[in-house]
Amino acid sequence: MATKLSRRGFLSGAAVLVAAPAVVRGATAAVDADVVVVGGGVAGLAAAGRLGAAGRRVVVLEARGRIGGRAFTDEAALGVPFDRGAHWLHNADVNPFRADAARLGRRTWPSPADDMLVLRDGRPLADGAASLWSAMAALERRAWLRGIVGSDFALGTAARGEMQQAAADLAALTMATDADRLSARDYATLAEGEDYVVEGGLGRLVADLGGAVPVRTGHIVRRIDWTGAGEVAVAGDFGTVRARRVVVTVPPPVLAGGAIRFDPPLPADRQAALAALEGGRFVKVGFRLDAPLSEVPEYVFDIGRALRGEAAGLYLDRRLPLATVIFAGSHAEAVSRGGAAALEAAGRQALTDALGAAVAARVSRATSTDWSADPFSGGSYTVLRLGAAGAREAYGRPVDDRLFFAGDSAAGPYAVTVMGARQSGEAAATAILSLPV
Ligand SMILES: Cc1cc2nc3c(=O)[nH]c(=O)nc-3n(C[C@H](O)[C@H](O)[C@H](O)COP(=O)(O)OP(=O)(O)OC[C@H]3O[C@@H](n4cnc5c(N)ncnc54)[C@H](O)[C@@H]3O)c2cc1C
Repeated sequence: MATKLSRRGFLSGAAVLVAAPAVVRGATAAVDADVVVVGGGVAGLAAAGRLGAAGRRVVVLEARGRIGGRAFTDEAALGVPFDRGAHWLHNADVNPFRADAARLGRRTWPSPADDMLVLRDGRPLADGAASLWSAMAALERRAWLRGIVGSDFALGTAARGEMQQAAADLAALTMATDADRLSARDYATLAEGEDYVVEGGLGRLVADLGGAVPVRTGHIVRRIDWTGAGEVAVAGDFGTVRARRVVVTVPPPVLAGGAIRFDPPLPADRQAALAALEGGRFVKVGFRLDAPLSEVPEYVFDIGRALRGEAAGLYLDRRLPLATVIFAGSHAEAVSRGGAAALEAAGRQALTDALGAAVAARVSRATSTDWSADPFSGGSYTVLRLGAAGAREAYGRPVDDRLFFAGDSAAGPYAVTVMGARQSGEAAATAILSLPV
């Protein structure tokens, strides 16, 4: 879900998407466009929207056959909108997608993280949610004390006692990793805020907002040549598009894996930043039920499972007949090894353990989603390697005023969210607009 269930800064203290850019398909005298945007996810759509609204000639190249990237609502698999990627509007008080949703007539609702049933090995824990949140606060205080004197550390190592360990596991689950790999510094940098959900799914909203941006889908970029002064050549099986500048929004793990060859290679500091942004695992298993489970709290978390290294989050959409089981980090990796069938079986077991066989028997269809296997995302969202503070910021810095990097990985306090991706794309566009054409 790309969220801290509570995003506390304990160490650190709209319409642009819909603006139709002037996309140029033919060649002009010297270059084909002012800017090529690589990737038609939220960051790419936002960058292209802002550049186009300012009158710049933009070409957007997207590998997949659709826009939206990791924001994608699947309406077919379960017969109800199921967000295979982003779902929650984090930091709802400042999240511009809320106003966009309202403008399109989509309702939004708060999804409070503390509306949570806390179990221990399947049995409800008296005052479970209160105990877990107070342990989370205590863990964050401990981490803050360690953070002001020391270097980066894994959040899990600051935990004292079972409840704090379970709180660290829950934090790590939301950050697509394990508690003993979750950078306390990275976690602390993220902004805290309320979560909302949007009617029809967040992926649907992104697709509708981005629909006005002309995007060349099915265009896999394989090479970015910036040897020529004052221009960049972006190439793939589709041919070559020449522009003055390029905005690369491809997720860092994909770039680190060499999917796009840069010529000349990227500077060493950029390569180090890429290597420090690893693909995290946040895997969802969606279950279609016969009716919404409105009598159960929105979230269920079993601290017994978490302490055994098998953390699973359960999210119940209050308005839809839909239950989603979430696995993360190394547990998700282990479960995913058996493919979709194994994932669904593990999800069904987690659902049964949490709510009983009678609820599990109400499932009619299941689907799972693991973005690590996707060559165009290389994971769900990035996990900062321990001790590599600064890598997100370093990754986002332009090279030679010609290569711009944007996306959720380089989005400061809103990193690893759609809102951050949008802000990062808009920031890259603003930086380009400040330069001569
Ligand atoms: C399971 C999951 C749950 C999440 N939950 C939430 C949530 O609840 N709330 C939230 O705010 N965020 C959530 N996120 C994170 C959110 O989805 C991302 O932060 C956001 O969508 C990233 O947008 P982006 O444009 O930076 O990257 P992307 O969406 O990945 O866009 C990059 C684009 O580049 C394209 N591309 C890749 N390689 C190439 C190539 N060689 N040539 C051309 N194009 C290429 C890709 O196809 C893609 O469309 C979640 C993510 C996942 C996976």
